[in-house]
Amino acid sequence: MDNCKIDSIATLIIDLPLRRLQRFSVLGTRSQSIVLIRIVSNSGIEGIGESVTPSGPWWGGESVETIKTIIDQYLAPCVIGENAFDLQKIMGRMDSVVHANPFAKAGVEMALLDIVGKSLDQPVYNLLGGKLRNSLPVSWPLATGDAEAEIEEAQRMLAGGFCQSFKLKMGALDPEKDVARAVTIAQALDGRARVRVDPNEMWDETTAKRLLPQLEEAGIELIEQPMPRWNLAASARLTSLATSSEIMLDEGVCTLRDMLEIIRLRAAGLISIKIMKMGGIRASKTIAQVAEASGVSVYMGTFLESSLGTAANMQLCATFGNLPYGGELIGPLLIAEDICQQAAQYENGELKLTTGPGLGVKLDEDKVRALLRDKSYSSQSAA
Ligand code: MN
Repeated sequence: MDNCKIDSIATLIIDLPLRRLQRFSVLGTRSQSIVLIRIVSNSGIEGIGESVTPSGPWWGGESVETIKTIIDQYLAPCVIGENAFDLQKIMGRMDSVVHANPFAKAGVEMALLDIVGKSLDQPVYNLLGGKLRNSLPVSWPLATGDAEAEIEEAQRMLAGGFCQSFKLKMGALDPEKDVARAVTIAQALDGRARVRVDPNEMWDETTAKRLLPQLEEAGIELIEQPMPRWNLAASARLTSLATSSEIMLDEGVCTLRDMLEIIRLRAAGLISIKIMKMGGIRASKTIAQVAEASGVSVYMGTFLESSLGTAANMQLCATFGNLPYGGELIGPLLIAEDICQQAAQYENGELKLTTGPGLGVKLDEDKVRALLRDKSYSSQSAA
């Protein structure tokens, strides 16, 4: 533990191209940016972390640019000189110095856990109580908005054995057109795949109630965050109306207090766990445990992490026994370039857990340099 005193912390914005257009409710993107966080201890152990948003501040208010500034200016002084084992103390100090900004804090915590794991020669999942699974079944996002192209994409993924479930990103189209698109796709796949939808808060309660029967009739098994995140009461009413579909909350559950309110109102049967929005691996683990204790199931969501962030999310979800709908840690399949020496491994539609010390991943320094937004950093990082 004497070797885990923090000497330095560096943040680098890295721009990664995507393999195809990814359309969210409010925007479409062909690239994904991450903040790579490199923390070095007094004995030279380097921990790496990643903060990532779904292409900008529309989801949670943070962007890679704000994350870098918040870490450099405000969070770094909370970490420098501290021992990485004093995680609770460091996280508490970060919370008192910076309100909110869970994405920035989660990336710092990830790098600190990587250091702790490396110093003990243990994977992070062993710091969380040990693993209950070695892989995660993943759902593929259909997010171009063109039903015909999406059916072709889904059939290709099914034929290749890459996955058996698909999640339609919605909200860019008129709700009726979006649901017609979902019904067309579900019918084309004709029971060969599980189909889910995510309107990202774009419907009001009347619209959600009106469209629920059509979605259930088409066999859509999961409806993620159809209504605004603040409207847990409406989500509770929709949850009570749903029969064959599950209503999942994503934007609506970022903190433990959100989770307690969801339980009080019975506002969902399922919640999406994501390290970034929940402010770290340990906070996410607590929320998942409280959810399970109340009969709410958990799902492993994604913000399109690189192989680094994906490994961190997988370390956490390896400790989850029950994931009835699996998850969607597919960032590395959608991102065309990787910053890790070995990209995330998938087999038969499942992401495999990395088992080395810490997060179990190593950076490819050439790739990091090549994809850096600000190339002037390179001389310092090469050391
Ligand atoms: Mn979502």
